[in-house]
Amino acid sequence: MTESTHGARLRLSHEEFANRAAQISWVLLDVDGVLTDGRLIYGPDGRLWKAFDVKDGQGIKLLQRAGIQLGLLTGRSDEAVNRRAADLGIDVLLSGKKDKDPAFASFLTRNQLSAHQVAFAGDDLPDLPVLKRCGLSFAPADAVKAVRDQVDVVLSREGGRGAVRQLAELILAARGE
Ligand SMILES: [Mg+2]
Repeated sequence: MTESTHGARLRLSHEEFANRAAQISWVLLDVDGVLTDGRLIYGPDGRLWKAFDVKDGQGIKLLQRAGIQLGLLTGRSDEAVNRRAADLGIDVLLSGKKDKDPAFASFLTRNQLSAHQVAFAGDDLPDLPVLKRCGLSFAPADAVKAVRDQVDVVLSREGGRGAVRQLAELILAARGE
């Protein structure tokens, strides 16, 4: 493990991280626990509320400005995520995907991509198969241990609290952007 300037822990060398970051054309993100703190807030009408971090949104914009495409890969399907994805100009919303591995495989096929062109961030066990296959894997600081033990980069920021902003800055810094 090496410590980056941002306080994230890298399981690969800075050189290898830069090599892999240079090949990334897509960033896929889990939603609950990555773009949010993982809490599900139910209103009395049964509608689901979620809180997103403005700094994460800005990180997504920075990635998009660098020509990287963005996707969300989530087991849930709700209006809060639909709205946030629309606000951020997310290219692909893969929602209601309880089984993320086949969803990832068909995403690759549909977009004529190989796994090394895609970075993914996840925080819990359903994310593990994709985290193991993708080109560059990230977990927020408060991801479950089984995930933190597997990913290339453990961020020092938590889900819904700047983890995605840090991911964006690490990728862009490694690419010299
Ligand atoms: Mg999650």
